[in-house]
Parts: sequence; C-alpha cells; structure tokens
Amino acid sequence: MKKILITGAAGFLGSHLCDRFIAEGFHVIGMDNLITGDLKNIAHLFPLERFEFHHHDVSTFVHLEGKLDYILHFASPASPIDYLKIPIETLKVGSLGTLNLLGLAKEKNARILVASTSEVYGDPLVHPQNEEYYGNVSPIGPRGVYDEAKRFMESITMAYHRHHGLDTRIVRIFNTYGPRMRLNDGRVVPAFMGQALRGEDLTVFGDGSQTRSFCYIDDQVEGIYRLLFSDYTDPVNIGNPHETTIKQFADEIIALTGTKQKVIYVPLPKDDPTQRQPDITKAKEILGWEPKVSRSEGLKIVYDYFKSLSKEDLQKKEHRDFSSK
Ligand code: NAD
Ligand code: UDP
Repeated sequence: MKKILITGAAGFLGSHLCDRFIAEGFHVIGMDNLITGDLKNIAHLFPLERFEFHHHDVSTFVHLEGKLDYILHFASPASPIDYLKIPIETLKVGSLGTLNLLGLAKEKNARILVASTSEVYGDPLVHPQNEEYYGNVSPIGPRGVYDEAKRFMESITMAYHRHHGLDTRIVRIFNTYGPRMRLNDGRVVPAFMGQALRGEDLTVFGDGSQTRSFCYIDDQVEGIYRLLFSDYTDPVNIGNPHETTIKQFADEIIALTGTKQKVIYVPLPKDDPTQRQPDITKAKEILGWEPKVSRSEGLKIVYDYFKSLSKEDLQKKEHRDFSSK
C-alpha cells in the first residue's frame, strides 16, 4: 500500500486532500501543529486503520519511521488575517518547514508536491497570470512574509530537484473555497457569508473594483491529484479563471443569502492585489484538467455548510488568539 504524508492535514485544503487519498486506497499520515487548523476537519478519519495523525510543527525536524512514497506539503497559514498575526511562523513554515520536508523526501526517496500560491505573482502587471510571469511582490510589505516564504519554497524545491535529482512538483493555487474553511479566518468567502448569517453589513475593502477568481475545493483537489501523478516538474497554476470584482461578488452573496443588509466600504489593506486570474493553459494541456464547478453551485454548497454550523461557531467573530505562539 502506498504511503503519503500530508502536512497541514487539519486545515481546509489538507483535510480534503486526506479524504481524497484515503478514498484512493492510500495509507495517509496527517501532520499538523493546529496553529490555524482544527481536528474537527479530520475527526471522521481517526477510526480508520489507514489514517494516522502526528501533532507536530514541521518547522522543526521531521522524522518518520518506515517507508514513504509521497509528501504533500500544505502546512502554512493561508489567510491574510492569519499570516499578519503570525508572520514569523509563516516565514518559518515556508522556509524551514519546506527544507525539512525536502530533506525527508530525499531520505525516503519520496516524490514531494509543495503548495505554492498565486501570491508569488504579487500585485500582477501581467493579466491573466501565466507561469512564466515573475511577479510584482514587495519583499518588505505586510504580505511579504507569505509571498516571499512561498517564493523561497519554490526556489529551494527547484534546487533540490536540480541539485539532488529529487522528484518534485509545485502547484500555484489560486483563491480556493469550500466547506471546512474557518468562518472567522477573514478570507472573503467566509467573511461575507458570516456577515450575511449574522445580519451584518458586508465589508467591501476599497472600492471593490479589485478582482479575484474563485475555485471550488473539489476542482482544486482534482488538479493537485493530477499534477502529483504527472511527470511535470515546473510550477502549474490551478484555479478557476472565472473572474469577478469583489463588489460584484458581494452582490452575488447578498442575492444567494437573501440578506437584507447592504455593502459598506472600508479601507483597502496595503498591497491588496488589484487583479487576479489564472491562465490555466498548462493545466489543460499537461493535466487535461479544468474546473467543473460553477461559482453559483460552489457557493450554494459552502453556504449550506456555514448554515449548518452551531450558533457558537457563527458568533466566533474575533480571530484566533495567537498571543501564546
Ligand atoms: P489552513 O489555514 O486552513 O490550513 C493550513 C494548515 O497548516 C492548518 O491546519 C495549520 O494548523 C497547519 N500549519 C501551519 N503551520 C504549520 C506548521 N509549522 N507545522 C504543522 N502544521 C502547520 O489554510 P488552507 O487554505 O488549507 O491552505 C493550505 C495550503 O494551501 C497553504 O500552504 C496555503 O499557502 C496554500 N494555498 C491555499 C490557498 C487557498 O485559497 N485556500 C491559495 C493559495 C495557496
Ligand atoms: N475582501 C473584502 N472584504 C472582506 C475580506 C476580503 O473586500 O471582508 C477582499 C480583499 O481585499 C481582497 C479579496 O476580497 O481583495 C480577497 O481577499 P482574501 O482575503 O479572501 O484573499 P486574497 O486573495 O487577498 O489573499
């Protein structure tokens, strides 16, 4: 039986990847330090013999007994609210964490896929963003802790590939949403839906003319799965090219939820990218992949999920307390 290590297993993307690899018949080792994740996301896997969980910070040395065939490195704070609150941990997991997992992959002779991001393009001057674009990132701005950690991640991954012949894959993930996102993680999908459910106005940052392109989780997982089993070692964009302005998006959420509240405008955070849309030509050609779930279908599913959460979860507006970390 093939064995796979998934870091960030208790998070949004990591938990869905655990489900997929369990369904495909793998032995799955989930690893997480729970800094932004929640064991609730993988509680259903604990009774399975083919699943094990290691509570561990991957920015410190990672050791596993026995053979290992694959590693998916998804551990990292991912929402701007989170990585601004824990900037040093974010830099460490993208750099030291990636180094540790590349070392483990080398020792075990395992294939490793690392989770990069559209943030490597920064506030892009090329639109839509293709993989050849080098990006427009401020190393010293507030988002630099995330963007530069991910750029370093890509760089060290390619160095291990070229220098040690390590079998590597790099996915550049564009905004992805779905069930198990934290309602209070500050990303725009849970933010707007939480506001609608609590009867609050929807907070559009800036004038709402900035754009994003939202990918449903099942499509994202399928793209990552195909990339892992392809032979392609350069970065590949995985995302849904269907672009919207944030103001249009707020109007869609108002229509979907039927809230009587309105949009209010609040200041735009520094370095918030003005436009983002993936060019997925490579994913189409190399992986035969393209997204299947429309935004209206996907948003309905995630809204039903948020509606099913307890009143207590819904009221947890304040962001997680990271003061002890
Ligand atoms: P998430 O916060 O839900 O999950 C991240 C998980 O990593 C959490 O469970 C957290 O506890 C864990 N983690 C963080 N630091 C760790 C450490 N040092 N050791 C062990 N575990 C640690 O975020 P997500 O949206 O699921 O993102 C997962 C990955 O995908 C991240 O690498 C992120 O950069 C990448 N990504 C996500 C998106 C998106 O739209 N969701 C977009 C681009 C890239
Ligand atoms: N945004 C917003 N209101 C919110 C949260 C986010 O207008 O309550 C905007 C944010 O400024 C950005 C977009 O929505 O332009 C997507 O933000 P998110 O934090 O989800 O991800 P990003 O793509 O910026 O990393």
